[in-house]
Amino acid sequence: MKRLNRRSFLKGGLASGVTAAAVTGSVGKADAAGDFGGYPDSMGVLVDLTKCIGCRTCEAACNKEQNLPAPDKPFTDMSVHDEVRHGGLPRRTSEKAYTVVNKYEVEGREHPLFRKVQCNHCQEPGCLTSCFVNAYTKTPEGAVIYDPKVCVGCRTCMIACPFYIPAYSYSSPINPVVKKCIMCYDTRLKFGRPPACVEACPQQVMTFGKRKDLIDLAHKTIKSRPSLYLDHVYGEKEVGGTSWMYLTSQDAPFGEIGFDTHLGKQPIINYVKEFLAIVPMVLTIWPALFTGFHLLATRKEAKKNDESVS
Ligand code: SF4
Ligand code: SF4
Ligand code: SF4
Repeated sequence: MKRLNRRSFLKGGLASGVTAAAVTGSVGKADAAGDFGGYPDSMGVLVDLTKCIGCRTCEAACNKEQNLPAPDKPFTDMSVHDEVRHGGLPRRTSEKAYTVVNKYEVEGREHPLFRKVQCNHCQEPGCLTSCFVNAYTKTPEGAVIYDPKVCVGCRTCMIACPFYIPAYSYSSPINPVVKKCIMCYDTRLKFGRPPACVEACPQQVMTFGKRKDLIDLAHKTIKSRPSLYLDHVYGEKEVGGTSWMYLTSQDAPFGEIGFDTHLGKQPIINYVKEFLAIVPMVLTIWPALFTGFHLLATRKEAKKNDESVS
């Protein structure tokens, strides 16, 4: 399984005291149109938001497939759509829910629009490029997976993700890890099977296939009903492209349904490079401190366990 080169830049940075000069110039393979190669035959999912009815069947399927704890409210309880977090924000993914479906009332639109949220499995993932212990991997199949055994819980990936996806596992304070959708990699994707949420959806909101074929399908779908669809495939270009892409209707533009429409076409690492050029010490010192705290806590716990056994 190939790992992206830029990971070793950042990983190496911890060991050797990375300099801004070393990071600058490491990445940025966009062509003139802002396209990134990634794995050309990787798989993806096209989500047609115009079809979603907010039934939460996908949430239930994910919960079962990933052996997650029971939700706070049953999957049949639609009152979750009216929940708002601090600051009026809709629900977000968590250690107990790798996907959530949120409801958006859009002015001038008769019915609400429902939007499923999960990791978008970026072509050039910010989580991966920011992780100094190399916990993340972009697989040739398209999934961005991670190794919880390597994760030190520093939360750098949570900051780096442009979609606020990695969730902190508060239930595991001694061995802190982040958790997120892995595109059902272990149980399905690596065997060529669609993710559980995709298969379970009663409205066929999601189409699983090769990313490049899904881009063609998306544009054909838009052309087939130009009065319904907005002429924009979200994720085709954003942050260098994502494996999960979205269609919406003209009366519910992406900016009105919680998508960040100001992300640009460059992968997040390009912005990180600029940041590091200004404050390179942040990368070298901050993760090292986290690592130190983590190892200290782990050793303390191990010692406590040893003492209680003896
Ligand atoms: S299962 Fe399909 S229709 Fe139901 S909430 Fe999920 S994406 Fe929407
Ligand atoms: S959406 Fe966030 S967590 Fe998922 S691959 Fe992209 S950067 Fe990583
Ligand atoms: S792809 Fe798998 S892990 Fe991700 S949201 Fe769907 S069911 Fe959950």
